[in-house]
Order: sequence, then C-alpha cells, then structure tokens
Amino acid sequence: MSIQTSDSNSNDYGKALSLIAAHSHISGLGLDEHLQPKATSQGMVGQTQARRAAGVILKMVQNGTIAGRAVLLAGPPSTGKTALAMGLSQSLGQDVPFTAIAGSEIFSLELSKTEALTQAFRKSIGVKIKEETEMIEGEVVEIQIDKSITGGHKQGKLTIKTTDMETIYELGSKMIEGLTKEKVLAGDVISIDKASVKITKLGRSFARSRDYDAMGADTRFVQCPEGELQKRKSVVHTVSLHEIDVINSRTQGFLALFTGDTGEIRSEVRDQINTKVAEWKEEGKADIVPGVLFIDEVHMLDIECFSFINRALEDEFAPIVVMATNRGISKTRGTNYKSPHGLPLDLLDRSIIITTQNYNEQEIKTILSIRAQEEEVELATEALDLLTKIGTETSLRYASNLISVSQQIAQKRKSNSIEVVDIKRAYLLFLDSSRSVKFLQEYQPQYID
Ligand code: ATP
Repeated sequence: MSIQTSDSNSNDYGKALSLIAAHSHISGLGLDEHLQPKATSQGMVGQTQARRAAGVILKMVQNGTIAGRAVLLAGPPSTGKTALAMGLSQSLGQDVPFTAIAGSEIFSLELSKTEALTQAFRKSIGVKIKEETEMIEGEVVEIQIDKSITGGHKQGKLTIKTTDMETIYELGSKMIEGLTKEKVLAGDVISIDKASVKITKLGRSFARSRDYDAMGADTRFVQCPEGELQKRKSVVHTVSLHEIDVINSRTQGFLALFTGDTGEIRSEVRDQINTKVAEWKEEGKADIVPGVLFIDEVHMLDIECFSFINRALEDEFAPIVVMATNRGISKTRGTNYKSPHGLPLDLLDRSIIITTQNYNEQEIKTILSIRAQEEEVELATEALDLLTKIGTETSLRYASNLISVSQQIAQKRKSNSIEVVDIKRAYLLFLDSSRSVKFLQEYQPQYID
C-alpha cells in the first residue's frame, strides 16, 4: 500500500498522519481465502458483517467491476469505519494508491474546494509505467552451481551483480572471496575451486582443458549463459496522476512534490496529461491502477463538493471513493435539506452502504489490548478490565486514548506496567465527552456563549 496523505499544508499532513497512527495495528481486513472474516486477524476484531461486505468490495476492486460507484461506511463513532478503510487499502497491496483525507480539509484559503478534491482524486490514481530497457552489460548474472559443478562440496546459488562490485550477493556458499573487480559478460567463464573464484574473459584465449588441469582437479567451470545479458529488462514504476501533473506543471515543477505546495494546477496541463496517459495505455506502455480515495467525515463536504464527486465518479480515471460518516439524518451543507447521513440522494443512490455496529465488551477488550501491544505498553489484567469498563461506558476511542496517558502516569511513579491506579488517575484528569458536557452544564454561566 502506498499511503498518500493530503499535503496542502503541514497541519493537514499532521492530521492525516495521526489519522493513520491510531490504526497502525491494522494490517488488512483479516479475511480468510474465501473472504470470510476471521474473529481476530490482521489487527481486526469483530465487526464481521462490515468486514464481510468490505471483502466483497475488495474483490470488486480487484476484478475492476466497481467503477462509477462509491462506498459509504456509516455507523456510530469509533466503530472502526476508518479502520475498515485502512484494512481495505492494506489488502489491496503495495501498488494500489491510497489517499486519506478528512472532509474538513477541503476548505482552505490556498486551494479552491474543487481543486483540493481534484488533487485528492488524482493522487488516488496510479499509472504503472512500463519501460523496456536494454539490459546493461553484465548487470546481473545468475549462476546456479549444483553438485555436479562443484564436485559436491560447494553447492548453492551464486549471484553476481557485476556493474557494482560492491554489491555482491552470495547465496549458499563462501566462494566469492577471490573475485576480481572485472565485469562479467555473457560467455565469460567463472572458475571455482575450494578457495577462490576466477573469471576468465570471453575472447581471451582460453583452453578449457589446459586451464582446468593447471588449476587442479578440484576446479570447476561455469560458463555465463549466452544471451542472458542481451535480454530486455522491463522496469515498472508506479506514479500517481497527481505526481505527473505536478512534474509537468510549468509553474510548480517537481520540487513542489516535496514541499507539498502544489497550488492550483491548470486544467490544460491535466487535459494534456490525460491524453498522454491514454496514449501510453493504448500503446501498452502504461496501465491505470485505480486506487482508493478515503474521505472521512464526509458530511463536512457541501453540496458543490458532492456534485463534483458525482461527476468525478464517472470519469475515465476514477478511483474507488470510500466515504465515512457517523451522522444520521442531517442537513446537507450548503442546502436546507435534510437527508440520510447528510449526503444528497443522488450520491447516496450511487453508493454501496456498509454499516458498522457498536462493539460488545469482549471486542472492546481485545481491541484495547491490541492497541496496548501496538503502543508497547504493559497493561495489568485488572487495568485492562477497568479500561474495558470505561470503554463500554464512554467510547472505545476515549478508552484507547487513556492508554498513553496512563502510561505517562505509570512512568512517573517509575512503574513499567500500567496498573488500576494509573487508569483511575487518567480517568479523573481527562474528561470523556459526556462528563465534559455535564461539567459545562454546571459551569455554563462562567463561559462565553
Ligand atoms: P469516527 O466516526 O469517530 O471517525 P470510526 O468509526 O472511524 O470513528 P475508528 O477511528 O476506525 O472509528 O476506530 C477507533 C479506534 O479503534 C481506532 O484506533 C481503530 O483502529 C480501532 N478499531 C476500531 N474498530 C476496530 C476493529 N474492528 N478492530 C481493531 N481495531 C479497531
């Protein structure tokens, strides 16, 4: 998985990174080979119905049959919507771009809403560019040495990377020590005996039997396979459409990729790039890899953004859009209409909706203990029980946040393990949302309205 986070400014970047950090224990959807959820696997606990549904989406993405649709993860706070999206992206593999943004990030002074969305969409489309290169002389020569060649005592596979003699791989034997700094070419002969490896260059007069004799009966010869080095080697790079845009944007230049300060990219640049990429695709030089664009807190978008997404989903180069919301019936921003999850009906109509459910006590306990392991924190059994109780009565996220706070408190009393006292202390020091509301109600007059 290559994760791209929004980089329109450093704050956003931090936000997106922390979005990921809370899910560092998730390494996939935890499904078996029939795409059925295992109870606890790859950091994923419970939520089986939603994970099963995510497995179907995964298959559709892999088969390329999901185009033009979006996925909406809907459910109460802390029920693993973001975790599911992360798991989906991990299951899709390294080469599939994954971009995570929060709905609120779209609103900035630097970029218009549609530009920010366009960039997020294009970051989520991978272009796999295949380049055929002539294999350079002696770049990698792989020689299998078997028993018959080595006379039984030096078996193994000898791989020599000859363009850079510093990089010599030796697998299975110690025969490389005597190597010279010469390049190995097709047809060259490598002679191997107990103590050393010698290279005899092609074209040099070389009488196999005489040299063989001179080197002693233990010496064996391997001839580099002819033609091996003329082989064409294809190199594949995957870049995102956004990266190609930035590199080709005359006003920005590729350095903007590092600073994240890409600004607005002109639509002509994008049009040209679309044409070029379509050409490459036609000529078999490139493949398009639709990635995943995850939009958390999607209810924060407004009607203009939603209509943009509706249109963008139909684009030739559309990623799989996965949205998440914890809102029920609410107003769509920019309108006076209420709708399910605050999404306009036409976008809802295109969406495959997956709902997530609240966790039971055992699931909360398992998730908290996985989080403690991930944060490399030792948690006493009773402390975990108390934390679980807090998790069921407040929220999973609040209980999860208490882990690192309690660890600080435990360290203060020079303990490596978090005990009940530390959790109690943390619970009193930091309010959960319902205690915070109660507190505000009590002290309302002292606050500014
Ligand atoms: P919100 O609506 O508030 O954004 P959410 O539904 O996106 O919440 P997450 O942020 O995914 O919830 O979950 C809260 C925390 O619990 C995260 O650290 C997440 O990784 C973890 N978590 C949630 N569900 C699971 C699960 N099924 N298995 C393992 N960890 C989970």
